[in-house]
Amino acid sequence: MSYVDEVYERIVRENPGEPEFLQAVKEVFDSLKPVVDANEDKFRREALLERIANPERQFKFRVPWIDDKGQVQVNTGYRVQFNSAIGPYKGGLRLHPSVNLGIIKFLGFEQIFKNSLTGLPIGGGKGGSDFDPKGKSDREVMAFCQSFMTELCKYIGADTDVPAGDIGTGAREIGYMYGQYKRIKGVFEGVLTGKGLSYGGSLARTEATGYGLLYITEEMLKCNGQDIKGKTVAVSGAGNVAIYATEKAQQLGAKVVTCSDSTGWVYDPDGIDLAALKEIKEVRRQRLTEYKNYRPNSEYHEGKGVWSVKCDIALPCATQNELDLEDAKTLVANGVTAVCEGANMPTTLEATEYLQKNGVYFLPGKAANAGGVATSALEMSQNSERLSWSFDEVDSKLQGIMVNIFHNLDAAAKKYGMDGNYVAGANIAGFEKVVEAMTAQGIV
Ligand code: NDP
Repeated sequence: MSYVDEVYERIVRENPGEPEFLQAVKEVFDSLKPVVDANEDKFRREALLERIANPERQFKFRVPWIDDKGQVQVNTGYRVQFNSAIGPYKGGLRLHPSVNLGIIKFLGFEQIFKNSLTGLPIGGGKGGSDFDPKGKSDREVMAFCQSFMTELCKYIGADTDVPAGDIGTGAREIGYMYGQYKRIKGVFEGVLTGKGLSYGGSLARTEATGYGLLYITEEMLKCNGQDIKGKTVAVSGAGNVAIYATEKAQQLGAKVVTCSDSTGWVYDPDGIDLAALKEIKEVRRQRLTEYKNYRPNSEYHEGKGVWSVKCDIALPCATQNELDLEDAKTLVANGVTAVCEGANMPTTLEATEYLQKNGVYFLPGKAANAGGVATSALEMSQNSERLSWSFDEVDSKLQGIMVNIFHNLDAAAKKYGMDGNYVAGANIAGFEKVVEAMTAQGIV
């Protein structure tokens, strides 16, 4: 049995009940085979795969808080510090009822390679809780965030571990968490990113993941002789990534015709009305059923269905495993040419393989959505030098980073004879730098 298969079997044995983590490891390990096979003795002797797939440490803690009725509620908090070979742990905090250790580990594992791909000095980590901010009052959200940070602050710091937002953790939650960290630790430091502009946040961080997704998509299309202008785009999700992906796609001359949330989806044949979408989701925090009030010609459908719409480019921007084999078949039958992941692992392994086999350009999330964490690293730089850069300065650095990521992963795929396989290219390019740093630092 090859070293890769041996280690994967061990990981399956040692991590029962964590399907998302195993899925992420399998995808990465499968594409690393050519690299590992070429250096099998060294990798085996140094147990590099065992080390890279095992978090350096992980915390699981109780988060008690009091709701508006005076009832004590208890949630579970997590922080997984996966790999610090190339910099302090960096990765968001997810607040969603589906959160468990396996999901945080899958996200933390992906984050190692994503952060490496940005070319910036950041290691991989992730955290969160099964707390659901939806439907809670501001006071309840604050009570949760303060309790969560009271424990989390023991493990993080501007030079050790710098969390950020993710699903359910936006500007409001980051603000409450930052306030509590500062109160307990008594220091004003860049310990979180995604902060408000008045207390150390970076311009363009809000837009970064969605904009970055479009910058890399545009570069990939350009390198394959295509133009994004005039293309029809299907976007899923209606949160931070989806909204700013839609904004940049529209700026680049594409027409976005869909969006979705966890209850249903919208088809707007005239193109999504971005101002209406922002009003519904960012200001009023409402369901997408409201969209029809702004755009009577649009359609609202309950449940899943975004991928049944005919489009040239699909941008899954909601959550993991939201695009399955059936969806991939429908997209291909409808003539899709590119699928680029705004969310983390939104496409199942079977769907990814099907898309690739059918000649669809496929950009994995760890490359395509790296603009968010890259801009978080730029926020860290600004905090360290106690300066704020202009929107254009941050945005142009982001654009440069995304274009670079594409060329690095494209080159890595070509180097190992897998031209056009951007999944393999992203995994290999991200992995090589981390392995070099791990090797240089000895057995730790
Ligand atoms: P948000 O919370 O802002 O938005 C998430 C969107 O996805 C919402 O529309 C939400 O619907 C929908 N959604 C969430 N969970 C589910 C589910 N289980 N089923 C169906 N729909 C769901 O999160 P973000 O936009 O920040 O994150 C989206 C994805 O992008 C995640 O995978 C995240 O990890 C990834 N990502 C985010 C980055 C960032 O900078 N924000 C950076 C890199 C990756 P509803 O409102 O109904 O819950």
